[in-house]
Amino acid sequence: MWESVLKIEKATWSTAYVNSLPDTAFAYIEAGGEKDEEGKTKPRSLRHLPHHNASVKFGSEKESVDLPHLRNAMARLEQTNISDEAKREAKNHLEMHEKQWDVGEAGNADDVEMGCGGKDEKTKKSLWGDLI
Ligand SMILES: [Zn+2]
Repeated sequence: MWESVLKIEKATWSTAYVNSLPDTAFAYIEAGGEKDEEGKTKPRSLRHLPHHNASVKFGSEKESVDLPHLRNAMARLEQTNISDEAKREAKNHLEMHEKQWDVGEAGNADDVEMGCGGKDEKTKKSLWGDLI
């Protein structure tokens, strides 16, 4: 009974599930692929760090974020085989979600890095604007 209320889930999406997610569920998508008939990038290996469930819309909203996968994506970021710039971009995106959910590391000393993106800053503002 209570489990359904607490909704504690582990980061265990199957490959098939991840492959079925739209592009917006991922923190970073490498260039060079093409879209299939559903608008999803192929090959699927170009899509990195899934952290939204199948209800994702824009990829910037809080509601569809899967927290275990958000944590997982953060943990795997450094081992992901993408450029440093891509990692920074992905990290900014993931950190935005951490702030939305008020999770992440306490006393985050890396806050300075958030200043680079500009784009994320705007996304965040419009998002909060919608919520308030
Ligand atoms: Zn996202």
